[in-house]
Amino acid sequence: MFNLNQIRLDFPILNSTRNNQPLVYFDNAATTQKPKIVIDTISDFYSNYNSNIQRGMYFLADRATTEFEKSRRVVRKFLNAQLKEEIIFTSGTTQSINMVAFGFLNTVSSAGDEVLIGEMEHHANIVPWQVICDKLKLKIVTIKCCENGKIDIWDLKNKMNSKVKLLAVQQTSNITGHENNIKEICNLAQKQNIKVFVDGAQSVSHKPINLQDLNCDFFSFSGHKCFGPTGVGVLYGKKELLLKMEPFMFGGNMIDLVSFSKSTWGKLPYKFEAGTVNIAGVIGLGAALKYILSLGLNNIQKQEDLLKEKMWEELGAAKNVVMGLTKKPDSPIFSFNIKSTHSYDVGSLLDEMNICVRTGHLCAQPAIKSLGVSGFVRASLCFYNTEEEVSVFISALKRIMKIVNNGN
Ligand code: PLP
Repeated sequence: MFNLNQIRLDFPILNSTRNNQPLVYFDNAATTQKPKIVIDTISDFYSNYNSNIQRGMYFLADRATTEFEKSRRVVRKFLNAQLKEEIIFTSGTTQSINMVAFGFLNTVSSAGDEVLIGEMEHHANIVPWQVICDKLKLKIVTIKCCENGKIDIWDLKNKMNSKVKLLAVQQTSNITGHENNIKEICNLAQKQNIKVFVDGAQSVSHKPINLQDLNCDFFSFSGHKCFGPTGVGVLYGKKELLLKMEPFMFGGNMIDLVSFSKSTWGKLPYKFEAGTVNIAGVIGLGAALKYILSLGLNNIQKQEDLLKEKMWEELGAAKNVVMGLTKKPDSPIFSFNIKSTHSYDVGSLLDEMNICVRTGHLCAQPAIKSLGVSGFVRASLCFYNTEEEVSVFISALKRIMKIVNNGN
């Protein structure tokens, strides 16, 4: 049973107030709130078995290593990856993308080759490719997106050729909430031997992910966007590609043998986990994913569908609201503007009513430019939000419209 009132009690922050106004948290695409089980799991690690992993010969180290590796198995299951060696813990999506850009691309490309990127990607899925392409003398080619931020498949087909070595694309847009058909994109790319990197930062908290079915080559996500801690994330790669890929960070834990003349790297996945990683974060991420699985992604989708329906109808009907999307999103992410009002002003006025949204360029300047605006107000919801909160939000917007129109 999906008991929303009960579920909200799992998230201590959701019951907070400011100036007697309840918190309405609609910035879940930036980061999600944390359930008590995640907070307690991290606290349990530090209170009861804090130690470094994989190297200690004592009980605490053994327990920490066991819990850490349990998280890897949870992630494998959550993504339906084939092997646990294909799951690498990173600091988040950004690090995962940098690892593939700086450790893999050079193994499959030479000067003059091309990398394809969707034109509505988050900066994290643009800048690392740009920097490495510059270094390796590769060309970045952008793929057009349709009005709601989905990759234009015709443009993609036209731009695929034997020079293209990699396509980097997001699964769900952080601006429009629309989802690319990753399976179709991977099918097309594989026919031309193009590797596909999928940025799953905005999809993992909203829908089941089945990597064996999607058949992408790389996939990444951040723990903090799916109810886990900050500073931890995942890079998935197909084993044969990870074997080819070079480490991006070097030091302890990732080695096999070290001498002053030469060092060799450890096995997968450890060769990509240099130094002391975020042990508490990884264990906390495991707890977050287990929490999602315990609620059931189907139940989560049902609740989010209700919220989406209501937001879509009421926001769309509100006078003076200019939507950034023309079709109901796949995930509950709504970008819009209020006529003649800067998004920052709307954000600040909402904040006075204890309503949290994101404003501005949403870390996707090229996308914002292509949509012909200077920024958006973005309300991003998730399963713990309520229909009542949507009503509070819409009323708040109407109040703001009155304030800005009256000039007081
Ligand atoms: N990709 C997308 C689509 C995002 O929305 C974000 C964050 O907002 C990122 C990548 C970067 O994630 P992180 O900052 O957790 O590395």
